[in-house]
Amino acid sequence: KNLVTIDNVDMRYGGADGTLAVEGLTLHVEKGEFAAVVGPSGCGKSTLMKLVTGLHIPQKGVVTVAEERVTKPVSIVGMAFQNPTMLPWRTTLDNILLPLEVVEKHRGRLRMNRAEYVAKAEKLLETVGLKGFGSKFPWQLSGGMQQRANLCRALIHEPDLLMLDEPFGALDSFTREELWCVIRDLHFERKVTIVLVTHDLREAVFLADRIFVMSSRPGRIIEERTVPFARPRD
Ligand code: ADP
Ligand code: ADP
Repeated sequence: KNLVTIDNVDMRYGGADGTLAVEGLTLHVEKGEFAAVVGPSGCGKSTLMKLVTGLHIPQKGVVTVAEERVTKPVSIVGMAFQNPTMLPWRTTLDNILLPLEVVEKHRGRLRMNRAEYVAKAEKLLETVGLKGFGSKFPWQLSGGMQQRANLCRALIHEPDLLMLDEPFGALDSFTREELWCVIRDLHFERKVTIVLVTHDLREAVFLADRIFVMSSRPGRIIEERTVPFARPRD
């Protein structure tokens, strides 16, 4: 059963004669799957992510998440994008709690109370090696630390779908491989469906069950491969 479908989508930036970022883009991700999207810089990977999360609405074609057509930002999705965009006037902890406000607005009541979410945020910080950094402001963290905090923010509301756009870019290779394991555990233990954009093939092969290859001009999927030896899903 598909959780994400993109069917024959065109997305053009900047009006009728602007850049055609993706054309005839089609991609389906099943529930419980870990999909990676790889391709050269500028081929439309970020555009794909923004189409699924509802940050862009395509001029042509249909995008659905959980069988609902995406027409506005989707609140059941956790997202972590390349450039951490934390609010500088909020502490790291309060930045991580930010999605809850959005979820509350769109979906109504939250599952847990604030104290429980704070405890969860602190546990997530510990998972990514940032124990005790919740009270720091974003500008007091390094780029890689902000990226890790960003990942915590994507996880705070236990999304069914996690969209990750180059989330490990600014990390040293040790931290990166540690976080790979955090993400993989999340996928296997909680059955979170994940779409990961990366230009690191090794990362894609290590993490994903299925790899989609994009080409540029026009941006579309040209290849789709199941990763051999990927652990079976149930
Ligand atoms: P990738 O993530 O694979 O590097 P993008 O999705 O960011 O690719 O970009 C795909 C194409 O769309 C590129 O040609 C890029 O220059 C263009 N593009 C992306 N964002 C915008 C934007 N906001 N305005 C105009 N063109 C854009
Ligand atoms: P535990 O089983 O004790 O919760 P885990 O190692 O499985 O520990 O998880 C580490 C942290 O990641 C915990 O804070 C957990 O709540 C959080 N976590 C795990 N899965 C998800 C998920 N799908 N969404 C959000 N947070 C999650």
